[in-house]
Amino acid sequence: MNVFRRAMSSASTLKQARKVVCIGRNYADHIAELNSARPKQPFFFLKPSSSILLPGEGPVIRPRGVSLHYEVELALVMGKQLKDFSGDYHAALDAVESYALSIDMTARNTQNEAKKKGLPWSIAKGFDTFLPMGNIIPKSAIPNPHDVELYLTVNDKVHQNDSTELMLFQIPRILGDISKVMTLEKGDIVLTGTPKGVGPVVPGDVMKAGIKIDGKELEEAKIEVKVEESTSSYEYAET
Ligand code: MG
Repeated sequence: MNVFRRAMSSASTLKQARKVVCIGRNYADHIAELNSARPKQPFFFLKPSSSILLPGEGPVIRPRGVSLHYEVELALVMGKQLKDFSGDYHAALDAVESYALSIDMTARNTQNEAKKKGLPWSIAKGFDTFLPMGNIIPKSAIPNPHDVELYLTVNDKVHQNDSTELMLFQIPRILGDISKVMTLEKGDIVLTGTPKGVGPVVPGDVMKAGIKIDGKELEEAKIEVKVEESTSSYEYAET
């Protein structure tokens, strides 16, 4: 089996996640750009695992009538069960099996309406293809998950480029808080929030995202995916 095939087969295990838990508002400048309130504690929502798009599986489909935004995020793949966890930094990271890069695609106009009316975010976050992911990144490739540079380009123009050191709530706190509400199980995926620079993509655009550590690109992290318009019967309309 060549290296490429092996990487692909391990990425396919991502789709076996029983849940994908996503932290919202975890970078101060991103909170400011969306005029959101800064949370006093981590808050989170779910994306369906059916929204996962593995490397090479594109395109990302923009539903009709939707303002489609990208949010690049570091993803954690759980290796151990965590339930009502209040352990230390080391124990929290020990429960993480590997990492991956992800793009939390968001129907921003749908989400804005949901925020205004107190409706859930499931539609805004849950469409098929709304979670492009890179290959599995072995833990050894990321010595410190709070010191990696995430970037995202659209048509080769850089829109997001920040360090995970800017997270408001770090990984141990995130995992602990989630685990007090819902048990984190092996294979579950946790998205840790997006830095500033989110914005729209339209059909024909190509998104590229990656991770750099000490300025060096991590090959496994890379995502490259095109955006296309949906041909399905769904069209966004106000609820
Ligand atoms: Mg997000």
